[in-house]
Amino acid sequence: MTKEKTDGLVGRGNREGANLFRSWFEELTETAKQGGQSAYVFVMGSISEILRVFDLPTVFPEINSLQTAVRRVAHEYLNEAEDYGYSPDICGYVKADVATQLRKGVHPMGHIPKPSLAVYTNACNTYIKWAEIWERMYNIPIFTLDVPGTREAGGQTWQGDQDFENDRKYVAAQLKELIKLCEEVTGKKFDIDRFREVLRHANTMSRSWARVLELNQSRPSLFNALTDGTVYLGVANGFRGRQEGGEYFERLVEEMEFKATNGIGTLTNEQYRLLFVGVPCYPIFRRFNEMFTEWGGTFINSTYLWFASGGTNRGFQYDLNNPLESLAEGILINVRDAMDSMFYQDQVLADMVEEFHADGIIYHPIKSCRTVSTGLADNRRAVMASRDIPTLFIESDMMDRRVVSEAQLKNRIDAFFEGLAARKQMAAA
Ligand code: SF4
Repeated sequence: MTKEKTDGLVGRGNREGANLFRSWFEELTETAKQGGQSAYVFVMGSISEILRVFDLPTVFPEINSLQTAVRRVAHEYLNEAEDYGYSPDICGYVKADVATQLRKGVHPMGHIPKPSLAVYTNACNTYIKWAEIWERMYNIPIFTLDVPGTREAGGQTWQGDQDFENDRKYVAAQLKELIKLCEEVTGKKFDIDRFREVLRHANTMSRSWARVLELNQSRPSLFNALTDGTVYLGVANGFRGRQEGGEYFERLVEEMEFKATNGIGTLTNEQYRLLFVGVPCYPIFRRFNEMFTEWGGTFINSTYLWFASGGTNRGFQYDLNNPLESLAEGILINVRDAMDSMFYQDQVLADMVEEFHADGIIYHPIKSCRTVSTGLADNRRAVMASRDIPTLFIESDMMDRRVVSEAQLKNRIDAFFEGLAARKQMAAA
C-alpha cells in the first residue's frame, strides 16, 4: 500500500462525513429560501424511509441544537428561549430550537426551513411536547408513531411470537396512516418502487454501520466513538435512505478494514479502552474528549451510537418483497432497541466489556436530558455487580455551559485514570 493510498483512506470518513453534513445544511438552506416543504423528525425513529418517498427534506431539530453548542453559541439561543418564557430546567435542545424558530430559522450552519409536518415516536416524552410547540407556531399536522417498548428487562419478543406479531401489526397500521397524511400534505401519491429503492439504500447503510461498530473491537481501536462517531451519526441520520448515505458507509467500512489490517489506531498510544454512556458534553466537545485522550484513553463504543442512530446499529435488513410490513418490523425492533439503550443498557454494556476489551465505563448524565440520564446510577450499579470494571460517573450538560465545570470534570477524570493506572500496575505485578 503506497503512502498516497494510506493518506487517502485514513480519515476519509471524517472528511467525507463533514462534506456531506455541510451539503445537507446547504440543501435545507435552499429549501428555506424557496419556501419548500420539510418534515421535522427525531433521531430515535425518524421514519425517513417513508418521508423520502415524498421528497420531504428531513430536519432534525436535535442535531440543529447540538450544532449550536459545538459552535459555542448555544448560550445565546438558550437565553433567548428562557427570556421568552421556557424554564431553565427543560431539555436544552428544545430551547435552542425554539430560539431558532423565533429567529425565523437562522442557524450557524445555514437556514432551517419551516415544517410542513412533524413526525416523531414515543422514544422520548419530550418529543411529544416539543412537536406541540410547532403545531401551535405553524398550525401544521403532527404525527405520533407509538412504538411498543420493552415491558421488562430481557422481556423482548421476536418474530414468530404472538406479542411481537401484534406489535408489528400495530406499527404497520400507523405507518399506513402516516403515508396517507404525507399524501395529503405533499399532494403526491405513494410510489412503492421508489419506496423499495429507499429501503435498499437504508439496508446498505444499516449493514455497513453495524460492521463499522463491530470493527472497533480491534486493538488498537480504529475510531473514537465520541468524536468520529458523532460525524458518522450525522450522516446516518441525515442521509438514511439516500444513495449517498449507503455509499458513505460502504466506504467507511473500507477505511476501517484497512486500518484494522494495518494496525492503524485512532490514538498512537492507546492505553485505556473506554465505553461511554449518555450524551457527549458538546459545549466543550473537543476539550472534553482531550481530558481522556491525554491519558491515552479512547472511546471504543457508546450507547449514543446506538440510540442516536435510531437502532440502525442492529444492521436490520428490510425485505424488499414485503416492504411495508418489513419497515414496520424494522421500526419496531430498531426504536425499541434505541429505547433499550437508555432504559435497559446494563446487560449490553456488560457484554461489551468483554467483546470490546474495555478497561472502564464513563457514565455522563446531563442536566438537560432526563430521558437518557434517569436511572444511570442504578444501571451503573448493576453493571458493576456483574463485571469487575472501573466506572466513572460525571455530570454536566450537552447544551448549557452554565452547568459545565471543566476544572471539576478534569479533577474527577484525572483521579479515575490514576486509579486505572494503579490497577494496571497491580495486574502486571
Ligand atoms: S430529553 Fe433527551 S432524548 Fe428527549 S429530546 Fe431532549 S435530549 Fe433528546
